Amino acid sequence: MINRRQMIEETLDPKDWEEMRAIGHLMMDDMIDYLKDIKDKPVWKPIPEETKTFFKEDLPEYGMNANEIYTQFKTHILPYNKGNIHPRFWAWVQGTGTPMGVFGDFLASAMNPNVTIGEQSAMYVDQEVVNWCKQMMHFPESASGILLSGGSMANTTALIVARNHMIAFSRKEGMQGLALKPVMYCSTETHSCIAKASEVIGIGTEGLRKISVNADYTINLESLEQTIRDDISKGYNPFCLVGNAGTVNTGAIDDLKALKLLCKKYDLWFHIDGAFGALAKLTDQYKEKLKPIEEADSVAFDLHKWMYMPYEVGCVLIRNKEAHRNAFSFTPNYLMFHDQGLASGPDSLNNFGIELSRGFKALKVWMSIKEQGIKKYTEQIEKNIQQAEYLTDLVNQNNTLELLAPTSLNIVCFRFISSHKTKEELNQLNKDIVMKLQVSGIASPSSTILGGNYAIRVAITNHRSITSDFDLLINETIKLGHSLL
Ligand SMILES: *Cc1c(COP(=O)(O)O)cnc(C)c1O
Repeated sequence: MINRRQMIEETLDPKDWEEMRAIGHLMMDDMIDYLKDIKDKPVWKPIPEETKTFFKEDLPEYGMNANEIYTQFKTHILPYNKGNIHPRFWAWVQGTGTPMGVFGDFLASAMNPNVTIGEQSAMYVDQEVVNWCKQMMHFPESASGILLSGGSMANTTALIVARNHMIAFSRKEGMQGLALKPVMYCSTETHSCIAKASEVIGIGTEGLRKISVNADYTINLESLEQTIRDDISKGYNPFCLVGNAGTVNTGAIDDLKALKLLCKKYDLWFHIDGAFGALAKLTDQYKEKLKPIEEADSVAFDLHKWMYMPYEVGCVLIRNKEAHRNAFSFTPNYLMFHDQGLASGPDSLNNFGIELSRGFKALKVWMSIKEQGIKKYTEQIEKNIQQAEYLTDLVNQNNTLELLAPTSLNIVCFRFISSHKTKEELNQLNKDIVMKLQVSGIASPSSTILGGNYAIRVAITNHRSITSDFDLLINETIKLGHSLL
């Protein structure tokens, strides 16, 4: 028998709550200052060896003081942030975050609910946020959706539903039960997460037909239809077409209307990867072009990109709720639904995705949208589009710079040029410019290759950027280009 007097009564809560409160306040104050003053700091700094070595400590056996831990954070972690909170960060496609978003995550973490099952407030917040997402995309109320870690999971989730629904897929037999080989379509410019998803859903990367693009990097419709016909005649089973609402390289938007018609004609599931671009649907400028999203079978988009929410949060919407639920529903004995009490409440969210445990990522979204209103978000998205156009003008006005792709949405791809240099030399030169811009802490664009040319790539999902940030980028790029010549 266990001796009651010898039982451990200690918890992980602080012994001194007031001491914990004080350090909490300090952290909060420091982080508010950090965000307030971020524009005056370098965008990025190289990480010193000393700090890399610091991260090789053995597993701590005993605890240390909270103040000391916080000092380590300030010494080794905070200064070497990636920088996407900075006004001159335009690498990849990365959102910026807001103070309210930070608070949302803090409050969510304090409540610490597991938002998958049960009668609890977080389930209703999660549902409301998904409903708002439907409203943003003009999806019907009857549609379903789920918040996920990001665009990759959102796209993959949609494609699992598409496979199960379109090819009479048996969850019991899996791919083994299939008579015909399922294939799906997207352009060569499509994000790599779709290729990953094609592996996950079992069709393999060969089952994903990558269709060539036009000069503006949109999918070539003739080639697409020809490939579908060829596949049908060869006995494959085309089941899905993935359209891009904003490709990652250049922001290209496929002819979504034409893609929808092809889907009707060949009975394909129409999925749209709108990781960042779908949100431009909110703007007057892009609402017509992106209207076909409303007719898609599913759309994936990120709230941590062009809605500026702190990482991570993405969303997938599925028009056919039943198809969505059929793909994932599972009710083991330990997840039984009850009429009353904790195990009642909304339909469990594990019926709509792969995850069982889920954090309360909906709270930061709920609070942020309430704080700003969707009109303010629309204005910020419009601002970023304007900034891309402004930057494009600056590039076009300068004869040492060259635009490498038509500017679409918020992405500008350009390079420094000189008539005395070969293609290879220019590629190296522009790579050096990007590295120097980053290492000096001036700005963080990223890069891509377009038509064999190295491009300086600026993707603006940044509410902190202002016009002068782009003047600075151009001036510094030209200065660096000339000094490197
Ligand atoms: C970022 C992005 C993704 C992947 O989204 P994550 O949130 O990074 O997982 C997919 N498609 C496009 C077009 C993207 O820009």
